[in-house]
Amino acid sequence: MSRRKKIKVENKELDDKLNHADEEHATEPADKHKGAAADKKVNSSASSSKATKKESKKEEVKKEEEKKKEPDPESELDDPVIKDLFSGLEGAAFQSRMPFDKMTSTEAACFPDIAQAPLQSIKVYLNVRNRILQMWLDNPKQQLILDDVMEKMEVPYNSDATLVKRAHAFLERNGYINFGVFKRLKPLPAKKFGKVIVIGAGIAGLAAAQQLQQFGLEVIVLEARDRVGGRIATFRKGNYIADLGAMVVTGLGGNPVTTLSKQIDMELHRIRQKCPLYQSSGVTVDKDKDEMVEREFNRLLEATSYLSHQLDFNYAGNKPVSLGQALEWVIKLQEKHVREKQIQHLKSVITLQEKLKTNQKLLVGIKEHMLETNAKIKELSGIDKRDVQLEFAYRSAVRDLHAYAKKWDQLQEQAKEIEGKLKDLEASPPSDVYLSSKDRQILDWHFANLEFANATPLSNLSLKHWDQDDDFEFTGNHLTGKWF
Ligand SMILES: Cc1cc2nc3c(=O)[nH]c(=O)nc-3n(C[C@H](O)[C@H](O)[C@H](O)COP(=O)(O)OP(=O)(O)OC[C@H]3O[C@@H](n4cnc5c(N)ncnc54)[C@H](O)[C@@H]3O)c2cc1C
Repeated sequence: MSRRKKIKVENKELDDKLNHADEEHATEPADKHKGAAADKKVNSSASSSKATKKESKKEEVKKEEEKKKEPDPESELDDPVIKDLFSGLEGAAFQSRMPFDKMTSTEAACFPDIAQAPLQSIKVYLNVRNRILQMWLDNPKQQLILDDVMEKMEVPYNSDATLVKRAHAFLERNGYINFGVFKRLKPLPAKKFGKVIVIGAGIAGLAAAQQLQQFGLEVIVLEARDRVGGRIATFRKGNYIADLGAMVVTGLGGNPVTTLSKQIDMELHRIRQKCPLYQSSGVTVDKDKDEMVEREFNRLLEATSYLSHQLDFNYAGNKPVSLGQALEWVIKLQEKHVREKQIQHLKSVITLQEKLKTNQKLLVGIKEHMLETNAKIKELSGIDKRDVQLEFAYRSAVRDLHAYAKKWDQLQEQAKEIEGKLKDLEASPPSDVYLSSKDRQILDWHFANLEFANATPLSNLSLKHWDQDDDFEFTGNHLTGKWF
């Protein structure tokens, strides 16, 4: 179960929505209080006569019923977006994990005549199939029998009774309909068609055993432990109850648990995504830091996924690489990258300093030339009548002085530029560590959370296979049932 790895990032928008909802709910207790006070009022006046008592009882029942009808803001199934997702034939196919407008490979194998028929026939089949799924999902508390399907199937799709029968049988046999906890309308077949032994009474074994029994097989379930449920178990101590395994419904979209929860009237509530982290000092981790480390955590997971799936780096010395190993290697690579960046930074500083040194040397040289030339000019200008040669020497010196002055200005300008660049570099040195010890502590929390989600240390998780169920993720919020 890997999907929790991104839960906080993926649900940022939802967070905001929920935060907003929280604010709105903040007014609720007062309103609820008002309601309670109003109820009290009714009750106290009701005590005066039996007639009014009856009426108030009626009112209470009416209120209760109305309350039941009201959409529960926390209930996922009352969410209009979710309702829309599950509605219609498309929603029924989606919820049953079937492509709405295509036959699956299993269907194509079971219905070769239809799969090879013209498109129109395939469309008719798909409509019949999706409609049966919709009928089941509309009322999963009761067995969906063929007679009812035939009765409800609309014209013209009801014209081919054999097709409807075949589609119904296929969906039932493959566990798309008539699964879970529902009222049977037809008794179990009395005659057994065979005997099956199911090994393991976890949810998978129990569900398989139940289905097989309903198909008319004699079933024996063998379980190694002294209880059923496998990894799903309820821990009870005094008044405390905790579900171990399967306490979180990881999204309703495409999840058969949606049907099971309807069948047993289980209220499902969104799990609040707020998960403040605390430092050992008891102070909450700064929001920006929390988000930064979380982004880094997801980046690290993406990097390990790239190593595994794009570079096929799954074995080291003939041994399979674990997710834990891969993560530590990527962290080491990041640390190396930080050091390389630091070296690069220092190299840039040294190059600029060398440039500045050369520049200063040139300036010193120019200065000397200027002093010499200036002295020469002074000497020559003191001679009253200069002959041609002296005049030439005088003018050459003046020209040289101008050239030196120009070069001086240029070098000064260059020095300014180099000094500016040096200042900028020194003002923004690269980080000297990839993660500070505090950052690493927060990152370790994410690793521990991932270990919790996978129920094993990261060093036990195969880099290649640990996220193999990602493609089969359910959609929607994580939810949990309510204990009363
Ligand atoms: C701590 C934890 C938290 C979890 N949280 C969630 C969650 O929030 N939401 C969620 O959807 N999933 C969660 N899961 C996963 C979920 O519990 C499992 O995916 C699910 O229970 C698996 O059911 P299963 O029937 O396939 O296997 P199991 O439940 O493992 O059942 C296998 C059964 O077979 C028995 N068995 C094995 N070998 C033999 C043998 N040779 N002979 C006889 N019996 C045998 C075992 O004893 C066991 O009872 C969690 C799991 C754990 C451990």
